[in-house]
Amino acid sequence: MIEVIERMKRKDPYEKEFHQAVEEVFGTVRPVLERYPDYRRSAILERLIEPERLIQFRITWLDDAGQVHVNRGYRIQMNGAIGPYKGGLRFHPSVNLSILKFLAFEQVFKNALTTLPMGGGKGGSDFDPKGKSDTEIMRFCQAFMMELFRHVGPDTDVPAGDIGVGAREIGYLFGMYRKLRNEFTGVLTGKSLGWGGSLIRPEATGYGNVYFASEMLATRSDTLAGKTCLVSGSGNVAQYTVEKLIDLGAKVVSMSDSSGFVYDEAGIDREKLAFVKRLKNVRRGRIREYADKYPNAVYTEADPQLDFNPLWDRPAQCAFPSATQNEISGKDAQNLLRNGVFLVSEGANMPSTPDAIDIFLANNVLYAPGKASNAGGVAVSGLEMSQNSMRLSWPREEVDSRLKTIMKSIHKTCLDAAAEYGKPGNYLIGANIAGFVKVVNAMIDQGIV
Ligand code: NDP
Repeated sequence: MIEVIERMKRKDPYEKEFHQAVEEVFGTVRPVLERYPDYRRSAILERLIEPERLIQFRITWLDDAGQVHVNRGYRIQMNGAIGPYKGGLRFHPSVNLSILKFLAFEQVFKNALTTLPMGGGKGGSDFDPKGKSDTEIMRFCQAFMMELFRHVGPDTDVPAGDIGVGAREIGYLFGMYRKLRNEFTGVLTGKSLGWGGSLIRPEATGYGNVYFASEMLATRSDTLAGKTCLVSGSGNVAQYTVEKLIDLGAKVVSMSDSSGFVYDEAGIDREKLAFVKRLKNVRRGRIREYADKYPNAVYTEADPQLDFNPLWDRPAQCAFPSATQNEISGKDAQNLLRNGVFLVSEGANMPSTPDAIDIFLANNVLYAPGKASNAGGVAVSGLEMSQNSMRLSWPREEVDSRLKTIMKSIHKTCLDAAAEYGKPGNYLIGANIAGFVKVVNAMIDQGIV
């Protein structure tokens, strides 16, 4: 295994995030490889880290002033052993191959955990949507789809949203796909309700994460009621995490964006959350405006010179990182513990660094890795695909109840796998092993392809 990892690092030395994700998964599946020697003969590890297909393309688009811009577009079809490739599109200036390969790799195991037939993929662009007009966003999305449409389809690869890609972008992408193909199919998920979307899809990642956290607390006969919670981010995942936490009687005291965070000791209630939704989804403003509207809240500007994030240095019992990768360092993890946090449930993908995870596990923190706790989003995307295939739509209660059942099942699957391999209560090991075994068995069944 060490050889496989070293070779990967020599081949692509700059793909740090991808290396981190691979080392995290491979570091936990050694006992499975020992139990099933067949896996080694089938070069399973080598096959898992090599995308089945990697598409990179030029996107040329025109801004409102008539200036031409060029961005890079990507789609990574990582592993299709258990279903059509499925995973989001990210539009953010930091997007590169390393970040998309890490996300696609994680997605493979996450999708396996959902119990639905979906392979793993991811894509996006280094395009920065911030400060762009609606028409610029539309032209960019159209230009992106003018290449992507050749590679996706309802039985091939079904992208969704991620950072910088929400309902507006999915609409523009779908419109161009429909025009180019002259067909109305479920090629994207996260569509609006009036034209093929699913109820509960916008809520699913955040709600699902809170359902998962409730399951973890139930193992200690505890609930979220009355708990003080730290949430980072203020986008799709963060908003619906806060909403469900409020529903269950918890008190949320923080939200953030890449410029800084607000700390509201009195708690973010439904009215304040509605303000954040309007601010972020309609006006596309910055979280600092929350403190202008609610002066008892304190806004702290992000300081790149600091080696810790003060958001994670506030008294609380539970933390829901919901912004981006590596947002909780080892130092942040120590601060969380010192402040009384005993549950960390990841809404974002890989928000905790390896040092932070080690600290959580060594201190008996209820720690849920994103591939388990944030799988509700892709799970409801899978349900959106089913509804599109059947050309019908399920009521809200039905989708929410299916989401709850799936999150319960992922929680149980993680605990069962962890116990089977002698690490009871370790969700990281449980999620990695359960996802890995399902994908690898499918690959072996399908032969050397
Ligand atoms: P959004 O674009 O809706 O929101 C992202 C939020 O995170 C914004 O508040 C953004 O601030 C902040 N953010 C992004 N990049 C950074 C950064 N480098 N530093 C600090 N803050 C940052 O994205 P989502 O809510 O959809 O995604 C959030 C996370 O959840 C991601 O890790 C994503 O991969 C993961 N996820 C999302 C799913 C979904 O269904 N949407 C499903 C599963 C996981 P700003 O506006 O300033 O950029």
